Amino acid sequence: MRDFAKGYTIALEQGGSAEIIRKIGSGGQGVVYEVTLDNEQFALKWYTCTLKNKEAFRENLRSNIEMGAPDDKFLWPKRLTVEEDGAFGYVMDLRPPEFSDFSDILNNVVKFPSTDTLIKAALNIVNGFRALHRKGRSYQDLNDGNFFINVASGEVLICDNDNVTPGDQKNSGDVGGKPGYMAPEVFRGDAHPNSLTDFHSLAVILFKLFLRHDPLWGAAHESTPCITEEREMELYGKNPVFIFDPENDSNRPVHGVHPNPINLWPRYPAFFQEAFIKSFVKGMKDPNARLHENEWQKILIRLRDEAIACPFCKRDWAITRLERNEAMACPCGRTFSMPLRLHIGRYAVPLFPGKKLYACHTVEASDDYNAVTGEVIMNKNNPSLWGIKNFSSQEWEMINSKGDRKNIPPGAVVPIGLGVSVDFKELTGVIRKQYE
Ligand SMILES: [Zn+2]
Repeated sequence: MRDFAKGYTIALEQGGSAEIIRKIGSGGQGVVYEVTLDNEQFALKWYTCTLKNKEAFRENLRSNIEMGAPDDKFLWPKRLTVEEDGAFGYVMDLRPPEFSDFSDILNNVVKFPSTDTLIKAALNIVNGFRALHRKGRSYQDLNDGNFFINVASGEVLICDNDNVTPGDQKNSGDVGGKPGYMAPEVFRGDAHPNSLTDFHSLAVILFKLFLRHDPLWGAAHESTPCITEEREMELYGKNPVFIFDPENDSNRPVHGVHPNPINLWPRYPAFFQEAFIKSFVKGMKDPNARLHENEWQKILIRLRDEAIACPFCKRDWAITRLERNEAMACPCGRTFSMPLRLHIGRYAVPLFPGKKLYACHTVEASDDYNAVTGEVIMNKNNPSLWGIKNFSSQEWEMINSKGDRKNIPPGAVVPIGLGVSVDFKELTGVIRKQYE
């Protein structure tokens, strides 16, 4: 197919037209252009491949356009074009320039400035797919080409939504997924993609984000001189073995060959490792054992709670130290005693300078991981005095170990001390030592 030239106009199904500005990318399925529509800039994806069930594919896109984006994390199809020479496309929002390709992040071309933004990006990915599944759709082709991430803020945009399908129906494009991301039952051809296979692909995405490696690529893969189709079927379909399967060490990462998982796996606390073990051991055979987005969201909020940085030099620390109750000495020379924890609801947040409380911690039944309601601050004149500053709009109440009560209006600070309780109005937290 010839490329569309600047100024060329393509009619849209419900009237109006998109005018080509420039070509911005191309892939296996088609070409993406920047276009103008009603004096605004958009992206146009134009299919240049032969679509297997073109009418059904087109009808599915139309239905997704009518439904609208599950939330603002999606670069969702907005308008369909009419056909030209049997081909067509759809219009969606443009990717803002501050968003990087996920593959550039996986290849370390672009880096997160902190563990905090890395976890925020993971939370946003999980939350986006939760919104999609709650709308009764499955994604079906989750892979590293589907995301753009703003590493500075942790914001995520989910693109390539053209295989999103109602319920667990087979997608009309007949797409199975990308090798390495597909659930084993899809790889074997025993199932077509559905929401349970999305959960597998989501766990692969998260594993790659945090460990920078394929969860199934270990010694078994390396010992195969030539990966034939048959061998690949064995490794990804018939007999997939997680590289950190505690019961089966046949596919461990190889020293000198796979440095990322070897270096990064011990950095994470046991509860986080266990989430991957459950996903890739039990969940590999039993799709119903895979972690749902709600579970990942709670696990990632807990991981963010545990990730602390030195308040002086801002260096991120090994998250596992808190879990192992080890002394905390920063390479900058400062030492800290183990922080107390605010035990609240299902969480036990380490109270360390810079640590934030969010609505998901302090508001009953909230799962809002973005709205900051409090922050642990350090007294400027006496760095050994720490407190929780009220950043919410609610008045809190603190109860000291003697039972004395004091109001903590917005902007005021609760001094951190053993046995102090904080009444957040809907929930009450108690400051205790490590897990008790
Ligand atoms: Zn430091």
